[in-house]
Amino acid sequence: MKSAPFDYVKPASLEEALELRRRHGADSAILAGGQSLIPDFNQRLRSAATVIDINGLSALSSIEESEDIVSLGAISRYREIQASTLIAEHAPLLKMAIPEIGSPAIRNRGTIGGSVSMADPGAELPACLCALGANFELARAGSKRMIAAQDFFTGRYETALDNDEILTRVDVPKSRIGFQSAFGEIARRKTGSAMCGVAAHGKATHQSIQDLKMVFFGIDETPILAVKTISVIEGSAINDVATAELAAALSDDLHPFDDLHCSAKLRMHYATVLTQRVLAQFVSAHGEV
Ligand SMILES: Cc1cc2nc3c(=O)[nH]c(=O)nc-3n(C[C@H](O)[C@H](O)[C@H](O)COP(=O)(O)OP(=O)(O)OC[C@H]3O[C@@H](n4cnc5c(N)ncnc54)[C@H](O)[C@@H]3O)c2cc1C
Repeated sequence: MKSAPFDYVKPASLEEALELRRRHGADSAILAGGQSLIPDFNQRLRSAATVIDINGLSALSSIEESEDIVSLGAISRYREIQASTLIAEHAPLLKMAIPEIGSPAIRNRGTIGGSVSMADPGAELPACLCALGANFELARAGSKRMIAAQDFFTGRYETALDNDEILTRVDVPKSRIGFQSAFGEIARRKTGSAMCGVAAHGKATHQSIQDLKMVFFGIDETPILAVKTISVIEGSAINDVATAELAAALSDDLHPFDDLHCSAKLRMHYATVLTQRVLAQFVSAHGEV
């Protein structure tokens, strides 16, 4: 099967791209890495009268730092993020997650802006960006707005992005002293979607973890900040978190779904297993295992 016909435009500047978006709105689609959009078009799951190709817009391609933030242009590709020394130093959670995304071919083309805009519940980076407290810049012709990652994901494949907007930048706060990250996922195949995954960032000492953000993906409609589970972990000694208490808190936090890959019940079991693995990563970074 092939895509329905569409007009293809490749703007030379961000301003031109935003003007095209203003003009064509819901009849347009942004083309970034094309790793989700093109398969969706070819399977006729989706169509658009006009495709706006944002590859080549230099305004969207850099990874830069300011005092407290690392800013990634929307078309920063997974492989560029993986290779970035700024990301390695200030947001290592992204480096932990990227090897789990698809295959090398997907990571060569796929972009951070595409991953976030697609809002696949099984995607790794949306959960990491929620755990890191990232903010997204959304631009439309003549104006811009910032939105917190946690507020951006509104449902399965649904976001706060309007039809006349382009996601232009992802701002990630630099990791602070004493903070560390942990990541885990369980997938049926290495290149497949996560049946359950978790991204965590917090301040760990030998005794406890504080200021923890633990965000699950692949288990619910959107990335889920596990508020009750976090309070159980923060309220316990790091080596002494009770499994039964964790499982009870997770079942309050998460609303898992059944699909072809995995039952809801198994997903919930994986959530408990992954939480224990994440705790072990925090402990092992302190030489306690
Ligand atoms: C076989 C396979 C396996 C995969 N495995 C994984 C995986 O394990 N984990 C994972 O996270 N992903 C996986 N993916 C998806 C992949 O990560 C895609 O790269 C990602 O979902 C979309 O990024 P993209 O840059 O290719 O965006 P595109 O496919 O170009 O666009 C995706 C959507 O976002 C919109 N969009 C893109 N950029 C912007 C922007 N800047 N502003 C507004 N809208 C925008 C597009 O219009 C489209 O609706 C897989 C894909 C395939 C084909």
